[in-house]
Amino acid sequence: MKFSSSLLENAVNELAKLPGVGKKTALRFVLHLLKQDEIQSNQLADSIKRLRSEIQFCSKCFNISDHVLCKVCSSPARKKRAGLCR
Ligand SMILES: [Zn+2]
Repeated sequence: MKFSSSLLENAVNELAKLPGVGKKTALRFVLHLLKQDEIQSNQLADSIKRLRSEIQFCSKCFNISDHVLCKVCSSPARKKRAGLCR
C-alpha cells in the first residue's frame, strides 16, 4: 500500500496493530478521523492516553477500575451485605 503522506502511513500502521484491524480497515479509520471534526479526534486520542495513564486494577478484586477500589467493591450496599458496615 503506497501512501502520499508519512503521517497518514504512520497512523494506518499504528491502527493496523490493533487485533482484527487490517491495513484497509485502518486506512478507513484514518480517513474517517480526517473527515470528522478535529475535536472528536482529539477526544479519542485523549481517552486512549488517559486510559493508559490513569487506569488501575481494584486492590480487592483486581477488576479494571478508575480508583484503588472499583465501584463494586466500594459500594456501601455491598459492604452492608457482606457485614462489613455497621
Ligand atoms: Zn473491586
